[in-house]
Amino acid sequence: MGFPHTPHPRETLVLSKHFGDTDARTYKGWVKRGGYEMLNQALAMEPAAIIEEVKASGLRGRGGAGFPTGLKWSFMPREKKKPHYLCVNADESEPGTFKDREIMRWTPHGLLEGTAIAAHAIQADVTYIYIRGEFTEAWDIMERALAEANAAGVFGKIKIYLHRGAGAYICGEETAMMNSIEGKRGNPRIKPPFPAAAGLFGMPTTINNVETLAAVPLILENGAAWYKGLCLSNPKSTGTKLLSVCGHVQKPGNYEVTMGFPLKDLLYDLCGGMRPGRTLKAVIPGGSSVPILNREEAESTLLDYEGCVEKGTMLGSGGVIVFDDSADLVYQIMRLARFYAHESCAQCTQCREGTAWTTKILERILAGQGKMADLDLLLDLADNMTGKTICVLSDSCAAPVVSGIKKFRNEFEAYITGNRKPVIAA
Ligand code: SF4
Repeated sequence: MGFPHTPHPRETLVLSKHFGDTDARTYKGWVKRGGYEMLNQALAMEPAAIIEEVKASGLRGRGGAGFPTGLKWSFMPREKKKPHYLCVNADESEPGTFKDREIMRWTPHGLLEGTAIAAHAIQADVTYIYIRGEFTEAWDIMERALAEANAAGVFGKIKIYLHRGAGAYICGEETAMMNSIEGKRGNPRIKPPFPAAAGLFGMPTTINNVETLAAVPLILENGAAWYKGLCLSNPKSTGTKLLSVCGHVQKPGNYEVTMGFPLKDLLYDLCGGMRPGRTLKAVIPGGSSVPILNREEAESTLLDYEGCVEKGTMLGSGGVIVFDDSADLVYQIMRLARFYAHESCAQCTQCREGTAWTTKILERILAGQGKMADLDLLLDLADNMTGKTICVLSDSCAAPVVSGIKKFRNEFEAYITGNRKPVIAA
């Protein structure tokens, strides 16, 4: 169930308050709802004051890394000697994640307002919103909204451009995205230098996610203390989070909850539980690149950055992928590995070879031709793929494999011992 849906009473509607309301998509409709008021106020503020307010709110990047937003902005040079850039990551390429496109579809002016405020805070001359190529509807809506806002002259000297991606997963990685905007192949860059020192076109650059920036006008409107107060568990995780739930629940879709919301309640209450006659087997809580939780872990996880780390996984982008007891996790993990092998940019040996061999070995196991030693081989490969490459795509492939073998080893062994019929051809 996507938006618009009737919100569950336990949701906290902050970013999704206007989802489903087509009038809010228009410039006039947005202004009627108080839109662009905060941008007007922000443009009269010192950039440093905006950064301090965002820092005080505790807002952290919603793209996956969870880095404090105000702190990231403060890394930009205060004295402006070169052009500054802001890049908005609207590529949303992480499997299982589908919330940024909803923000663009329903509240394009909210995103534009947050973008313009951020651009003022970091003194960016030019902003690029990098939108995934497949998001045709979101692109059209954003294009219309940008034209309306430009016609109304709300951005002052700030220039905002939309830039269309071509559908490569890796272009959601910030440095690959900058290469892509520059017209180059979307290969991640070695860091340092970090983007705030040398980013887009070699100039100081900040990259923020759509959901992160959409929260900024609301923080300025209601105050940092209000945002900080949106917290059910750890004070280091504040605000709300849009969670994209897919897989074996009765009501998949996007849900906005306060940070620290129990995963168990999300699955069984908001999402209506498992399909009839089925029980929960596993959850990947933060998009496909984070470790898998088994049922016991999932049912005791609190959905914030710290709560997920406590259970050995990550909140990531908030893409919650649910598997019931009918799911073949060996097959699902192979599908993920195949995806990462396809999307690897191939610069790093560990990633290029590791993702390809991980896929081959998993396919071999699923074809009934695996050996027990393959499980150790997969773990050894995963070890060599983790923390040793230019970007984390390699780690992302390894994470579900390692957690899958650790927690569901019997399922892998069943294929190897012949207790389970092969599901793919050799
Ligand atoms: Fe490319 Fe993979 Fe290396 Fe990332 S880890 S830079 S995707 S080869």
